[in-house]
Amino acid sequence: MNERREWVAIIGGGPAGLMAAQRLAEAGLPVQVFEAQATVGRKFLVAGHGGFNLSNAEDKRHFASRYGAEETRFEALLNHFSPTDLRTWAADLGIETFVGTSGRIFPVAAHKPADLLRAWLHRLRELGVQIHTRHRWLGFADATGLRLRNEISGAETTIEPAATVLALGGASWAKTGSDGAWVPLLQEIGVPVTPFAPANCGAEVAWSEFFKTKVGRAPLKNIGLRVHDGPMVRGELMLTDYGVEGTPVYALTPQVRQALHRGGSATLFLNLKPDLPPSTLLARLQQRRNGASLPDFLRKALSLAPPVPTLLRELAPEVSTLKPEALAALLKALPLPVAALRPLDEAISTAGGIPFSAVDEHLMLRQRPGTFVAGEMLDWEAPTGGYLLQGCFSTGAWVARGVALRLG
Ligand SMILES: Cc1cc2nc3c(=O)[nH]c(=O)nc-3n(C[C@H](O)[C@H](O)[C@H](O)COP(=O)(O)OP(=O)(O)OC[C@H]3O[C@@H](n4cnc5c(N)ncnc54)[C@H](O)[C@@H]3O)c2cc1C
Repeated sequence: MNERREWVAIIGGGPAGLMAAQRLAEAGLPVQVFEAQATVGRKFLVAGHGGFNLSNAEDKRHFASRYGAEETRFEALLNHFSPTDLRTWAADLGIETFVGTSGRIFPVAAHKPADLLRAWLHRLRELGVQIHTRHRWLGFADATGLRLRNEISGAETTIEPAATVLALGGASWAKTGSDGAWVPLLQEIGVPVTPFAPANCGAEVAWSEFFKTKVGRAPLKNIGLRVHDGPMVRGELMLTDYGVEGTPVYALTPQVRQALHRGGSATLFLNLKPDLPPSTLLARLQQRRNGASLPDFLRKALSLAPPVPTLLRELAPEVSTLKPEALAALLKALPLPVAALRPLDEAISTAGGIPFSAVDEHLMLRQRPGTFVAGEMLDWEAPTGGYLLQGCFSTGAWVARGVALRLG
């Protein structure tokens, strides 16, 4: 191994980059991480806001299917660094995890993402990993070099690592550093990049001013949601002033995006009583109302409390005149017209990025041997539920293996 082949550069200090750094350092390779922001792991820290969901205890086959078109690829990645490996890794850093009732894996109550990150950075230091914050990658130089700028002094340098891992993230929550500004740098050398699109984000519904004022922000618990005749997703829907959000909406963003792309609009169908068979629902609606108003009747017969009546009137103004059969059908499939998905920067994750066709089986760029890609900058998407971080950790571990193999 000559001088130039002695060390590995990791660009981007998110979970994918830091996992690659750890695995490479454990394999005995000198590693330097370059991060544009003042600190590493900013999006990782944000991930703790809505419950810090590290992975999922779902069985392997289902787990891999969460990555859609990339299922087969992820099967191999998950075999190499599985959810169990992730739990062992966290425990080794002093962070025990537990499996919640939904199968989601979380750190035990007292632990925040900052605790895990602190312990992780301590371990990386022990392993000799050098982290250079405020160092922005500006692009490639010649066959093997990388151009960097020190964000404090403004000084530019070119480094010559033996191998490079790019782990620059997607293009949402730009304030955390994941701004997608790397796209032209890859395109310059002929690497294709699929345009970014919001994933795991809210959907916009043009509510009336009356609805926005009356309902504001309100949860609808235990509902079912689907796009046209697609599979139903269960969970809690949140009505907001711009439309709807929550796990079931996030899970359906690929289908909503496709429908919007095809026809300029999309419809979500809301099942307000997913556990009730249609015949039972109809029988309850056929009971005598004894003069009760629709809201009172729905509450007594079906435990459908506010804001459901307001929602029904908003989306189906004729609701109070409907016969039981038509009302039953409406409660099982209330159409919610979606005008758009929320803007990219608000999304929990992004679809798009470097397609798998542009990398080999080690996730090395075909266009630039010696440069590997990990994490959200690759073109895959998955729902919330721990699949995002697991995907980043698994791709990070996988590229470390590829780099180690390449450097012998
Ligand atoms: C609100 C929110 C909640 C989330 N909750 C969860 C959750 O509970 N569970 C889950 O599984 N996932 C969650 N996620 C998703 C998860 O945080 C991301 O999938 C993950 O952080 C992506 O990791 P990454 O390493 O690929 O990229 P990132 O974490 O985005 O890291 C990329 C790094 O590269 C740096 N960088 C970019 N360009 C350059 C450059 N030119 N030079 C140097 N450095 C550069 C950035 O500053 C950044 O630090 C959440 C995301 C959000 C926004």
